[in-house]
Amino acid sequence: MREQKSTRCPHCRAKAVRGRPGAGRTTVYKTLPCLTLPSELLLPTCSRCRALFLPTNQKTGVLLQLLYVAELRQRAQLAISTLRDVRSLRKLERLLGVSQGYLSKLRAGTSNPSPELTLLLGMLASNPKPMLRRADAFWALPADGCLNLAMRSAL
Ligand SMILES: [Zn+2]
Repeated sequence: MREQKSTRCPHCRAKAVRGRPGAGRTTVYKTLPCLTLPSELLLPTCSRCRALFLPTNQKTGVLLQLLYVAELRQRAQLAISTLRDVRSLRKLERLLGVSQGYLSKLRAGTSNPSPELTLLLGMLASNPKPMLRRADAFWALPADGCLNLAMRSAL
């Protein structure tokens, strides 16, 4: 394998940028402020100032999307496991308006959750009993009663 030549860093001007592995690297991606990048992945990095230059090519885009979907799956699985201790999956599916068996698929990792559903599951799982009670109350109220629920909780 040929030695990769270093290129000039736009930050510190050193000719020290080339593909390097690295632990603990993250990037902002879609809803995630810190998507963890694989440590073994060679990414253009400056050895002097440590600046990381994430390529904007299709290969990197596909990789980031795969990492993002895996992150959503993991978050949804954890949230569902927590919520399942408080309420049955069937009742949760009814509350969320998703089809029967969908939460089981997410829990098993055989389906990909949307960012919206992942966020909702995460919010509910952050404090399951009170949050589920609020969700029940939200659906039980008439449409104009939702404003009262929001105003009451803001006090
Ligand atoms: Zn640099």
